[in-house]
Order: sequence, then structure tokens, then C-alpha cells
Amino acid sequence: MTTTADIVIEGGLVWAGLGELFEDGLVHIQAGTVMYAGPKGGAQVPAGTPRLDAQGCTVLPGLIDAHVHLTTNSDHDRVIPSDVFRGQVSRPGKLLHGLRNAHRALASGFTTLRVMGHRGVGEVELRDFIDAGLTVGPRLVVSPWWITMTNGHGDLFYPPYTKRTKWDTADGVEECRKLVRLQARAGADFIKVMASGGMSKGEQPHWANYSVAELTTIVETAHELDLRVAAHALSADGIRRSLAAGVDSIEHGSYLGEDAAAEMAEKGTFLVPTMSFNDWCQREGTSRGLTPDAVGDLSDAHDRTIESFVHARDAGVKVVMGTDSSGTLCPFGAHARELELYVAHGMSAEEALATATTNAASLLDRSDLGSLRSGAAGDVVVVEGNVLTEISLLAQRSNLRYIVRAGRDVTGYLREATEVFGLETGKTDLGNP
Ligand SMILES: [Zn+2]
Repeated sequence: MTTTADIVIEGGLVWAGLGELFEDGLVHIQAGTVMYAGPKGGAQVPAGTPRLDAQGCTVLPGLIDAHVHLTTNSDHDRVIPSDVFRGQVSRPGKLLHGLRNAHRALASGFTTLRVMGHRGVGEVELRDFIDAGLTVGPRLVVSPWWITMTNGHGDLFYPPYTKRTKWDTADGVEECRKLVRLQARAGADFIKVMASGGMSKGEQPHWANYSVAELTTIVETAHELDLRVAAHALSADGIRRSLAAGVDSIEHGSYLGEDAAAEMAEKGTFLVPTMSFNDWCQREGTSRGLTPDAVGDLSDAHDRTIESFVHARDAGVKVVMGTDSSGTLCPFGAHARELELYVAHGMSAEEALATATTNAASLLDRSDLGSLRSGAAGDVVVVEGNVLTEISLLAQRSNLRYIVRAGRDVTGYLREATEVFGLETGKTDLGNP
């Protein structure tokens, strides 16, 4: 690692934001913040500033994965079903796996993760620890835990033998309001609510989770505290209720019809499609603890998610990249697979890039992220080749020449950690979608 947070990235194709492209460009970061991104000649860089050579590369803002479950199993040599991991691994144990997952993500060019939250595991503390510069990691944008009704998706997520405590669930308007405020008190960056059933054992995606009145209370209370609301919603009815309540993003949106897509476009509601999870389950699920029946059930949801994505794109919905990375299923480090899937289903490479940068920053309400404009956070990924014509370059870790986090070159650190601690997923090169 360099000792200062000043750096110059010289040469290469600089993509500073949608439509802002500079051939043979230059990025200058000072004290961790972008001072300049543009043509080489336009910058005044103090002598002695460390330089990285980006010739033959694409220079991108650090990428954002807007839907991950950080504190899940990170040890791929040991297959642990996700529900068993949730039910049996202690909270400190989960946090340690989360740190390892965070390193995997950063080593694959993802410098910001939106964390969907596991109660009391310490993700907020990990966020602050990383922000203070006490360890190397991606920026974490955290929901401390999700809001779910009793017998809702976030409750059934845990095996029946798991002891449930007060505020693991909330029922009725008053409890929903209280739980939003408790989360704000616990350091929430946003609120996650389960607004439809899911695909956990013993539930159906079409099961209703929360009334419009409960969802509206959650959204109003969160917005009063400047917190955005992400709604897990698979079913058409769950999506309809979430939109009526005014949520900021629909997560998964598997059964999104054309009417709901039009409504989302009009309201400016974001869609986070999370195709990777199911894609990965179709490919690897049975060798990672899923029954063939479960893989079959997920297959239908996968097809519907792809249809929804196409509806959303046609309607002009703002799409934000999220993988649903969850440890044993859909490993951390393979995030860029999601972008390959977007391109396979109709996006241009640049549109796909925007989902993981400018669009994601807009959903996160973080104007400092997702671009290399002056004043942006100094998070940069330098990738061999032209990513704007070949998105799949991002999925191969060997193509990542440099990873810069807040103006520090962390490439060597991550390379060593990858080698020593086995952080390669080994699953990043999955061929054509
Ligand atoms: Zn999820």
C-alpha cells in the first residue's frame, strides 16, 4: 500500500460517468478524493505523486453491488446450508465471515456494498471500522436488520428451532413505526422491509407480507428520518402494495408486470433485479446443498425475473445492480456476473455499467459515489481491455490491474490476501449466460 491517499492513474480509457469518456485520460486523486478526471493534458499534478499506468485499460469508478447479505458463509470448501448457517453460527462468527466476504468483493472491484442486514451481527460497527481506516474493505451502506412480519419472509428465513426475540418481527402499524426508529437509532443507512413471501423453506412467494397501511407507515417514518426504503417484493401483489406505499426500490421484482413497470418509471422507483443468485443456483445449487426440487422452483422465478427486467428496461425504470450474494449460495467475488446477465438480456455494456455506478449512487443517495467527477470518492478500478465493448472482462479477476480505495492502491494487499486466505471464488468464469 502507498502511504498517502494521493495517486495519479495515467492513460487508458477513462469512464467518468454515463457519456463521459476520455481516451488516453488521467485521474488525479488527492487526499482520497477525485480532483480531476479528463484528458491527460488538463491536470496539474504535484511532482512526486505516485503514478499507476493504465495504458490498454478501462478506468472506472469503484463498482457498487446494491444487494448483498454480507455476514454469510465465506468458506466455500465447507458447504453449509444457508438456514443452518443463520441458525447455528454465532454473531461474532458471522461478522468474521462478513469481513472475509468484504475482502472478496473489494478484490473483484466492488468498492461499495449495500448490506441488507442481519440483526445484531455488527455490520454497522464493521462499516464504521472500515470508514475509520482501521482495516481495508469496501464502503458499507447498511440496513442493521430487516423489517418483517411474524411468519413473513424475514422470519421464515430462520429455521424453526431459532429462538425469536422481540423486534425480530413487527406486526401492525405501531410496531412497524417503532422498528424503523429503532433501526435509525442503531445506525441505519436505509431500511429494508420484506413486502412479499420469498423462497425459503415453508413459504410461498405469493404470500402477502404487510398491508399497505403498515408499509406506508414504514415509508413515512423512514423518509422523515432521511432514510430510503428497499422492499423485498417478488409477487405482483407485494410489488403493488410496495408502490402504493411509496418505497424507493423494489428488490428482486420477479413477477413485475408491464403496468407496475410503468408505475415505477413514473414514480422513479428503482429496480434491483438480483439475477445472479438464481443464475448461480441453476448452475451450482445441487452441489451446494439445494435439492433438485428447490432448484426447479427457483428456475421459474429466474425466468420471471428476466421477463421483469425486460419490462422494466422497456418502460424506462432505473435499474440498479444487485446480486443477492449470500455466501454458500452465490459467492462474494462473482458480482460482475450480474452485469453479464444484464447485457445478455438486452442492455448495452455502458447501460450495465451505469447500474453499478451512477444509478446505484443515485439509489444510495450518495453523490460522492459511482463516478469519477471532481469531488467524488477516490475509488477506482482499472481493468485490462475495453469494458465498454466487453463487459465480461470485469468477471475475471486476473483482468483487474489496479484497485484503488479512497486514493490508496490496495491491489497488492488484496492479491496477497487472496493467495494466503483463498479468497478466489473460482466461480467467476461461468461462460456465456
Ligand atoms: Zn436478498
